[in-house]
Amino acid sequence: MTLREPSAANLQWGVVRVDGGAPQPALRDGDDVLLAAELALDDDGPDLRRALRSPTLNALIELGPPAWCAVQQAAADAPAAARRALADTTAVLPIQIPDYVDFYASLEHATNFGAIFRPDAPAVRDNWRHMPIAYHGRASTVVVSGTTIRRPHGQIGPAVLQATAQLDLEAELGYICGPTATGPIAIDRAEQHIFGVVVVNDWSARDIQRYEYEPLGPFLGKSFATSMSAWITPLTALAAARTQPPPQDPPAAPYLTAKEPWLLGIDLSIEINGEVVSRPSAKSLYWTPAQMLAHLTVNGARLSAGDLFATGTISGTQPQSAGSLAELHRGQRWLADGDDVVLRANAGAVELGEVRGRVAAP
Ligand code: CA
Repeated sequence: MTLREPSAANLQWGVVRVDGGAPQPALRDGDDVLLAAELALDDDGPDLRRALRSPTLNALIELGPPAWCAVQQAAADAPAAARRALADTTAVLPIQIPDYVDFYASLEHATNFGAIFRPDAPAVRDNWRHMPIAYHGRASTVVVSGTTIRRPHGQIGPAVLQATAQLDLEAELGYICGPTATGPIAIDRAEQHIFGVVVVNDWSARDIQRYEYEPLGPFLGKSFATSMSAWITPLTALAAARTQPPPQDPPAAPYLTAKEPWLLGIDLSIEINGEVVSRPSAKSLYWTPAQMLAHLTVNGARLSAGDLFATGTISGTQPQSAGSLAELHRGQRWLADGDDVVLRANAGAVELGEVRGRVAAP
């Protein structure tokens, strides 16, 4: 049990099993966990009661920021006896994810990948600086940290189906969205539809990706698994991590221009078999989360409670700040069976946690 004073804003959200019971919403404070259904709430209406007994956080997300804050405050005010040890719980995937979109928001990553995949063309295409580019991922294969990743099969050349020989990781941040809204969501209202932040590993099979991605983009080279951290850090916990993004050149379109633009100064690390191999930072991202959400919905697309969008690989300008092995080792090294991959993220003293996965043989 920790004895320090908890801050309501700094608690993380998740869903846990206790003693093999049904999954239920929970809040984490360091090494402690509070079960949301056990909290004493001032406004304990039927919708909130139902949400706090649900096997995912979707219903709670749908109730909006006032409900989130009320539960966080009740958790912060709960007596020490209400806490249990994190180690006595099992965290599960906290969201039933309706839609998953992966952006391509890092200019350094886009530049590196253009050079690797299309050496004879300009690394970054003209449209890249005018809008956040993305593809739709496979929501149902998003898995929680700790899930084993089986090396996938796919076509790597004409009629050649085999297990990937070029399995890679991608260090990203993900944003869990809601409540549900019909697009467009104006850029200055975007953060009212972001529930919190997770760490994402967008596993990628480069040989499959290279053969299939033109002309319609990533498919089986990505859709076998995407891992996310079990605990969701609310934006309120990251207020001190907000930074002013650098000016964009050319200036963004009006619907992508915020009155007060912000990025999150979150530092990541990539660890393979216990060794840190790279330290990317989200401070270097070109497109902001609010720009991504505004763009995602500008055509009227509906945002659903629990939707996940990710930043795309976060890479910096230094060799040891790349967010993928393709960039770190230029095709000379890929993930091996048995490798343990752990991505961690923190914003100063605020730990966002980790996303972990072990590679298994095909
Ligand atoms: Ca990605």
